[in-house]
Amino acid sequence: MSEKNERAAWIGGPKMQCATKAANPGRSFRMVLLGAPGVGKGTQAEMLCERLGTCQLSTGDVFRAAKCMDESQLSPAMVHALGYMQRGELVPDDTVIDMVKERIGCLKCQNGFLLDGFPRTASQAGALDQMLASLGLKLDAVLNFELPLEQVVERLGGRRTCQSCKTTFHVVSKPPQVDGICDRCGGTLYTREDDRPESIRVRLQAYEDSTKPLVEYYAKAGTLVSVSADGAPGKVFENCMEELRKRMDV
Ligand code: AMP
Repeated sequence: MSEKNERAAWIGGPKMQCATKAANPGRSFRMVLLGAPGVGKGTQAEMLCERLGTCQLSTGDVFRAAKCMDESQLSPAMVHALGYMQRGELVPDDTVIDMVKERIGCLKCQNGFLLDGFPRTASQAGALDQMLASLGLKLDAVLNFELPLEQVVERLGGRRTCQSCKTTFHVVSKPPQVDGICDRCGGTLYTREDDRPESIRVRLQAYEDSTKPLVEYYAKAGTLVSVSADGAPGKVFENCMEELRKRMDV
């Protein structure tokens, strides 16, 4: 297996082990990150996991990792899913839910978990509720990142991602030191297929139609925590921590 395929197979695959350290021994945090594409959920997920020691599961990362694999190694459902991703559409619920069920070990991580990009529809939210109920677990918080639409479009259009380490840059607000090269690992920067203008439109519509209603769903459940996503990642992270501190010991 090539190095790329090995990495893809590892992410969330049978060999998955939680690599997080117990930053808060004895504490666990079970959270979901909500928000339009481009608000910075991935970056915040990394920072929160680093601080809280939770296990991170990003469904978008799992699909992107599968994209690096030879098609012959993927299930038909996964091959089908990648077509949706490429067009910026949501992958069908059954496929996403099955994929998360395969990774249910993440939900049982002793330091808790942080779900980035799941759930994205009412049906996925229902499935998550059922999975958690079957494990006797409850969500502590659903962080909803808020950002005006113009800023979302601007962020997605200018985003460049490292092919190797997945660090993201922005052509205006966070340019790399050398054009097209990752500051962190020297990898090549590229524009994700779903960050192209035609896919951005589809993704934002999918967010409006399917994901935004979850804000109401979690508000009713009493777990919603609204966070402003305006500003640099460090500032947004502080906003998160401040909002979380109001409701739990973080
Ligand atoms: P993300 O990086 O979270 O924006 O996800 C990238 C793409 O993966 C999305 O545009 C969808 O095509 C697919 N995807 C990721 N998570 C989900 C999900 N929970 N439900 C449906 N599609 C998803």
